[in-house]
Amino acid sequence: MRTAPLPFTSLPSCAVFVRRVTAVALLAVAGGVHAIVTPDVPEAQKVPVTNPNAPKSPQDNNPQRRHSIETPALANRRREASLPKPATAGGELTLAALQELLKDGKAPRTGELTLSAASAAPANPGTAAARTPARSAARPATAPAAAAAPANTGHAAHWSYGDDETGPAQWGRLEPRFNVCAIGKRQSPIDIQDSEALQTPMEPIQFNWGKAAGSVLHNGHTLQVDLDAGHSIEVRGKAFRLLQFHFHLPSEERVNGRGFPMVAHFVHRADDGQLAVVALLLDRGEVNPQIARVWSSIPLDRGDRVRLPAEGVDLAVLLPTDQRYYQFIGSLTTPPCTEGVVWNVLKVPATLSAQQIDTFAKIFPMNARPVQPGNGRIVKSAQ
Ligand SMILES: [Zn+2]
Repeated sequence: MRTAPLPFTSLPSCAVFVRRVTAVALLAVAGGVHAIVTPDVPEAQKVPVTNPNAPKSPQDNNPQRRHSIETPALANRRREASLPKPATAGGELTLAALQELLKDGKAPRTGELTLSAASAAPANPGTAAARTPARSAARPATAPAAAAAPANTGHAAHWSYGDDETGPAQWGRLEPRFNVCAIGKRQSPIDIQDSEALQTPMEPIQFNWGKAAGSVLHNGHTLQVDLDAGHSIEVRGKAFRLLQFHFHLPSEERVNGRGFPMVAHFVHRADDGQLAVVALLLDRGEVNPQIARVWSSIPLDRGDRVRLPAEGVDLAVLLPTDQRYYQFIGSLTTPPCTEGVVWNVLKVPATLSAQQIDTFAKIFPMNARPVQPGNGRIVKSAQ
């Protein structure tokens, strides 16, 4: 049974993580990263580089360098637009590439280096989502700093959630590094079947979440809330720091065949680079005051970023009282569909009002990857 008349896909996309992790590590080596925002999903991930006291270059004040602002015409096609390709090699930002950027003054010293998730992923055999006609309108790659990556000369492949040549079924063919989207055996999202899951006692996820400050980025594929440091989870005996959370409509994951109107994916990363995502399903119901704070900071266009209200978002309040969860290994649900992500899907959903859902839908009518094959992977169901 479905809650929403929307096409569902299964689990989330949070894909660019691993690559970002690498990029981040390299950036740290090269310049002293003080804050990392990440990526999960999609596309534009931001990695604030370097020290905030460094003098700004004229370029830093140029909005075209820091944000890709669409024209009104392009805004209509924003979902299909591609993000600028990052300086990557095989999907990862190399130290050499970074140094090259810094040398050329192309990497903002005080700004943010936007990594494009658009560079990754392959095609998967899923069915394309349907609600939005995807268009492959190419967005001029205006961008940002990373656009001039030495490792890649072209622009990142455009990818979308449509049923055309840039949609999920084709992701794996858009770029070699998106290949795993098509051939991976541990892809997300999946349809979690309780009858097939291992019913077992599991340690509760320890949520060290509190009132969070941050900013909301419209990255072309979703609204992503990049958070200031200070929040984490501990799961499987390991600590993961919370980087960002973002939304999908409808939910990417399904449980026993049922999808939900939306889902929020909280992307965490451990010191060793492993990613852990907490998926909070969002059902239609009461107004969610915390999400309302996020919605109050909705950016105006792709590439635009708005600081959260001063009161921030109280992440702990978002959590359901019953925090049992399903756990399995999956992937980012957006190109490059990187695998090895520890997925933790909370069984009890939070709510959003119909109006809150509609608000997101006006910007992103459909941004969920279709369900991927389980391929016999183990899914644990915490009792
Ligand atoms: Zn996601």
